[in-house]
Amino acid sequence: MSQAYRDFHLQPLAGEWREGSGERVNRVTNPYDGSELLSLRLATRDDLDAAFAAAERAQVAWAAAPPAERAALMQRVVGIFDVRKEEIIDWLIRESGSTRLKANVEWGAARGITQEAASMPGRVHGMTLASNVPGKENRIYRKPLGVVGVISPWNFPLHLSQRSVAPALALGNAVVVKPASDTPVTGGLLLAKIFEEAGLPKGLLSVVVGAGSEIGDAFVAHPVPRLISFTGSTQVGRGIGRIASGGEHIKKVALELGGNSPFVVLDDADLEQAVNAAAMGKFLHQGQICMAINRIIVDESRYDDFVKRFVEKVKGLSVGDPNEMATVVGPVINVQQREGLEEKIATARREGASVLLDGEIRGQLVPPHVFGEVTPEMEISREEIFGPLVGIQKARDEAHALELANATEYGLSSAVFCGDLSRGLRFAQGIRAGMTHINDMPVNDEAHVAFGGEKNSGLGRFNGDWAIEEFTTDQWISVQHEPRGYPF
Ligand code: NAP
Ligand code: MG
Repeated sequence: MSQAYRDFHLQPLAGEWREGSGERVNRVTNPYDGSELLSLRLATRDDLDAAFAAAERAQVAWAAAPPAERAALMQRVVGIFDVRKEEIIDWLIRESGSTRLKANVEWGAARGITQEAASMPGRVHGMTLASNVPGKENRIYRKPLGVVGVISPWNFPLHLSQRSVAPALALGNAVVVKPASDTPVTGGLLLAKIFEEAGLPKGLLSVVVGAGSEIGDAFVAHPVPRLISFTGSTQVGRGIGRIASGGEHIKKVALELGGNSPFVVLDDADLEQAVNAAAMGKFLHQGQICMAINRIIVDESRYDDFVKRFVEKVKGLSVGDPNEMATVVGPVINVQQREGLEEKIATARREGASVLLDGEIRGQLVPPHVFGEVTPEMEISREEIFGPLVGIQKARDEAHALELANATEYGLSSAVFCGDLSRGLRFAQGIRAGMTHINDMPVNDEAHVAFGGEKNSGLGRFNGDWAIEEFTTDQWISVQHEPRGYPF
């Protein structure tokens, strides 16, 4: 292994590491102490053009490479993830404010999807179908899409880029990634170094570091990428859907957007398990997870008991330096996020939520805030929080709990705690969401299991067979084996 990757002022654009051609510079800072980690010149639309053109050229030979060659490349990437584990974790802590625990979880998830991607080249298959035309044979070939454009957010930058990059490359596509401006290293540049070290041919993976507001539209509208795989906010996702397939351009989009996960505690739940799951599912990564608990809904017969135990548990979570082993709640990503959370706290108070737990905000450290007597009309129930705040609602009974759980425009993840599992299953089947976990937190991701949302939480599914579907397309090729009798 060569030395640790430290210097990231260049970007892999069209097969070479060079500076972006823009005038403006992105200064990337550590969310915990504000220190500058690196600065790099932003890429321009010309850089974007060059990256897409190189990807289009490189993809042809890559798609023709034997499946075993693409699988072996992914296995080497997994090996580098293992050897460079501490280095990757260190970057996640410094650049994205991840606690050690969260950085380990993210490293594991990104490694897991790479391992899964290594199995994908050998799993792609077509089919033959009988024909109604005498002498004809129908074949369905599965092919790579061509070039895939990936846009990722700052909260799980490594994993949320890699869960598109690894399957897309494994299946014979080329990729251009636009990481979030807060996390260019963990969202793209570090991955590019790892793929390069593993021997990925030049030009197949470019990373374009530029502001979404400046090059985002050009990225999405570009004629080369056949699929835009976007993970981020519902607001930006709507704009991407409009541009990518709203008339002028017709291309596929995969949209993984915001969430508003309900966490439901029914009257026969094991409260100790429920409290532990709620604390982890809410405060991991300061609540900055699309699947994080956004609303806790408790049967009124267990409400007081749950509230008492939950507040007690959350009081004990340590807030501070994400690099410290014991820290559970580290910094939020940037000043804008902190200010948004301050407003949400003020609104919850103004709307009459009772403050069960609060604390002083220092820099970007926002301690856990817990609100009780919350109603579905309050902003803290309606909007995605994406931070260490949570409101607890009371449900009259199971039917009311389900009604409250579904009272959202989102439908990503969800969870229900109960003693009777048949009842839990019935409840889960009534939830309109892409993912529901019985007797666990809503934060779950397994590389081989369908991941994605319903309603305004998105379109499409990641992982396993669903990723194979997403990053390939079908071609019907028929073969007429004998002369066909035409009527004229
Ligand atoms: P965001 O503002 O939507 O940004 C996501 C990405 O989109 C960034 O790379 C951003 O670049 C880029 N972008 C911004 N404007 C764009 C435009 N007009 N065209 C193209 N790209 C554009 O989201 P965020 O604030 O980073 O992340 C938080 C959100 O992501 C939350 O809503 C969360 O729920 C969601 N999320 C969803 C999932 C999921 O799997 N469903 C996972 C994680 C996060 P810049 O950084 O340069 O602005
Ligand atoms: Mg943003």
